[in-house]
Amino acid sequence: MEKILVSACLMGIFCRYDGNTNEKEEIKALQNKYIFIYICPECDGGLPIPRAPSERKNDLVINSLGEDNTPYFVKGATHALEVAKKYGITKAILKSKSPSCGKGQIYDGTFSKKLIEGNGLTTDLLIENGIKVYTELEWKELIDDEQ
Ligand code: SF4
Repeated sequence: MEKILVSACLMGIFCRYDGNTNEKEEIKALQNKYIFIYICPECDGGLPIPRAPSERKNDLVINSLGEDNTPYFVKGATHALEVAKKYGITKAILKSKSPSCGKGQIYDGTFSKKLIEGNGLTTDLLIENGIKVYTELEWKELIDDEQ
């Protein structure tokens, strides 16, 4: 079976900023088709659970306390790419809207729930390196692309 990267919070891991999970049964069900390699770029980069939420501001990632968390996010993104390279992975299913895992839309950096066009830091790095990223809402496209 093909190995694929997945956001750990989609698989029921309680790694979200508030200590919760984003578990999605439809993603977990894809385990009959893929071997999922879990990543949580924010935790892999060294941030604790729970943690203050962060949002991207261009190339920086700032948390709701005004602290610059960019180095943690860069470290987590780099780790995700290293894991992908190690296992020859070319696809990922990542959590939408996250400042690390989001694709297409992210929050605008003002903590006012306003979405703008953009990707999370990890998603950007993976895409730059030829990895196809799907959000959890696009899993059917992943299956369609296989056919
Ligand atoms: Fe989920 Fe990604 Fe946030 Fe970790 S960094 S909690 S995997 S969205």
